[in-house]
Amino acid sequence: MPFLSLQNISRNFGPTKAVAGVSLEVERGEFFGLLGPSGCGKTTTLRMIAGLEKPDAGSIRFQDADITNLPPERRGFGMVFQNYALFPHLNVFENVAFGLRARHAAKDEISQRVQSALELVQLPGYEKRAIDELSGGQQQRVAIARAIAIEPALLLFDEPLSNLDVSLREATRSELRELVTRLGLTAVYVTHDQEEAFALCDRIAVMVGGKLMQTGKPRELYEQPADIAVARFLGRNNLIQAMRLSSSKTSEGEFKTLDGGHTLLVPAERNELAPLNKPVVIAIRPEHVRLTSTDGAAPNALRGLIREIVFAGATSTVRVDANGLLLEALVVQPDGLQINQECTVILDPDRLRLLRQG
Ligand code: ADP
Ligand code: MG
Repeated sequence: MPFLSLQNISRNFGPTKAVAGVSLEVERGEFFGLLGPSGCGKTTTLRMIAGLEKPDAGSIRFQDADITNLPPERRGFGMVFQNYALFPHLNVFENVAFGLRARHAAKDEISQRVQSALELVQLPGYEKRAIDELSGGQQQRVAIARAIAIEPALLLFDEPLSNLDVSLREATRSELRELVTRLGLTAVYVTHDQEEAFALCDRIAVMVGGKLMQTGKPRELYEQPADIAVARFLGRNNLIQAMRLSSSKTSEGEFKTLDGGHTLLVPAERNELAPLNKPVVIAIRPEHVRLTSTDGAAPNALRGLIREIVFAGATSTVRVDANGLLLEALVVQPDGLQINQECTVILDPDRLRLLRQG
């Protein structure tokens, strides 16, 4: 039984389909990410989980109860927003105590819970401070303390770190993850930042244009994107247009690239998806494209000409033209490679992914 499940939920704003038929399941204790470009419907999805927005269709279940129509205060979820949403006229103590007062907790319990929440976010002794006397990072911690003070059954985060500068963001990120794990909480975390989602989350759902494209562990998504939109969004990828040539059920299928006219072999378990004689997209990460100066007898070895070498510190990007097929390789040591040099480009069959058209 999933802890939280969204079943086919949708939300329109006039003609805008902000969320279109999203289904997902979150397990108890999981740190679950909702990742996608700006405007793809992440906040709307989170607000529906919180009860701040009602779905036009679909249902939401939590611990096996239908909560689709339950008001937010009866869900018992903690929420942390991008802009912190603290009350500027209340001090730190009263901000953290807010949810507890709303629940009519006893005075002693309130003061004890506020104190321990402030300790957890490493702000003990800040009770009397005014909000405008705190840095952005401290304000965000107060917002987190407020969310955890009610001991929420579920924590919802909407890009909580995006207003912090880079170094503080990374430090707060690790603290946040550690805190959620230590308290044994379940979290749904919205972000447009791939690196942040990869660093924080046990599993991630990738959203594009109101739809959920793929759900998986960070590494699975990176290495096995199912879809062109996911492959494009999660880091760099060479996307090669090709047609499937044979329907042979042997270990590999043959594809002809539209640019360059090369024949590529793709392992059977992946090429079963591909229709015959229809264009498909084959993806390979730049770090998996190998370049050698010797003649390669390996499968998927293409002759190419080095067009460009872009130095970027630890790695260099090498752009190669293989008879009109342009490919990017990420190379740690570009020694010995030169512009206009002939080389062999090896596209290891095991590294090729066949993508669904979005
Ligand atoms: P994200 O959080 O991924 O950036 P949102 O959920 O905020 O995306 O928005 C998804 C889409 O719905 C966007 O096109 C946005 O402009 C639209 N939208 C969100 N909230 C409203 C609203 N209250 N009224 C009208 N349009 C909205
Ligand atoms: Mg948003």
